[in-house]
Amino acid sequence: MSKKIVILPGDGIGPEIMQEAVKVLNAVDNKYKLGLKYEEDCIGGAAIDKYGVPLASSTLDKCRAADAVLMGSVGGPKWDALDSNIRPEKGLLKIRYEMGLFSNLRPAILYPQLADASSLRPEVVAGLDILIVRELTGGIYFGEPRGIRLLENGERQGYNTYVYAESEIERIGRSAFEMARKRSKKICSVDKSNVLEVTVLWREVMQALAKEYPDVELTHMYVDNAAMQLVRQPKQFDVIVTGNMFGDILSDTGAMLTGSIGMLPSASLDQNGKGLYEPVHGSAPDIAGQGIANPLATILSAAMMFRYSLDQSAVADDIEAAVGKVLDQGYRSADIYSPGTTKVGTSQMGDAVVEALGG
Ligand code: NAD
Repeated sequence: MSKKIVILPGDGIGPEIMQEAVKVLNAVDNKYKLGLKYEEDCIGGAAIDKYGVPLASSTLDKCRAADAVLMGSVGGPKWDALDSNIRPEKGLLKIRYEMGLFSNLRPAILYPQLADASSLRPEVVAGLDILIVRELTGGIYFGEPRGIRLLENGERQGYNTYVYAESEIERIGRSAFEMARKRSKKICSVDKSNVLEVTVLWREVMQALAKEYPDVELTHMYVDNAAMQLVRQPKQFDVIVTGNMFGDILSDTGAMLTGSIGMLPSASLDQNGKGLYEPVHGSAPDIAGQGIANPLATILSAAMMFRYSLDQSAVADDIEAAVGKVLDQGYRSADIYSPGTTKVGTSQMGDAVVEALGG
């Protein structure tokens, strides 16, 4: 198929976990004769150091020309004091925005082998499999006007603008309904329509869209209740669709239901299914360089890439099964370790997945 992938390791543990994901890409490339082509570049702090900006336009051009982008993570104390416009995280916001990656898919799946890692009781989370679909390029994170202004009384006031156009709501809604169709045909739209007009519109658009998907059951929930229900009875959900800010918060809650942020992949897709794939976690500066980071979230992000952008579901299934096998074998990185299992470092975990893939 000869697909082109841009690899952006990023900062902190990014390069360490990406090295393991690349091992896995090489293994499946070999096994399935995929003819993958990779090109590596920088994003975040690494790009600031190399290009002076967190995302160079040449890097963006490469990403646009590729079939998919696989990213590690960005950020770290080295760049924390920089002006907010050239902070590493701006590179991430920019790539999502410039590539039109409006649909962020964050599965929260609890591997049965890790049921004890969750802070909730195993019976509440065992078998958990939720997909949170978060709108990624609009809402209050991008709305204008924004800033901090000086009031007449000399006091400073911070302000942001929460906006969504109908077309933005419709396209994320459609993305979520399509996902729900491939799962258990249940979708919960999360809003705050008792208080915020923008989400009154959100709810209206979702209701209108539901008429096109009569086979999918649509329910609505206020975000405060959704936060509560996620920790009370998370298995009531299948697909959750919500805006950028609510999705940011709820998907981190979803992440913690599963016990370790080191296990969670994500995909951010454009209108045509081209995407950026990255682990949910950040650059973990506290453990960077120690060889102990969990590479499985990045490896599972690569699996999502095969499923959603490279049209290779069988390869995705194979990688996910290999991860399951490695957990069955008892291998655990430090973040998911429990007594009685075998603690391994980043590269041993990557090697174990490659071994489990066979080939
Ligand atoms: P973080 O996700 O980097 O770390 C939170 C905790 O989880 C830390 O204790 C860390 O050691 C642990 N952890 C994270 N990933 C792990 C892994 N793969 N294996 C084992 N343990 C893991 O979040 P943070 O500490 O709030 O942020 C650190 C930096 O990352 C900041 O600069 C932040 O802006 C950035 N960040 C980037 C992204 C991204 O690139 N998408 C996301 C979140 C935070």
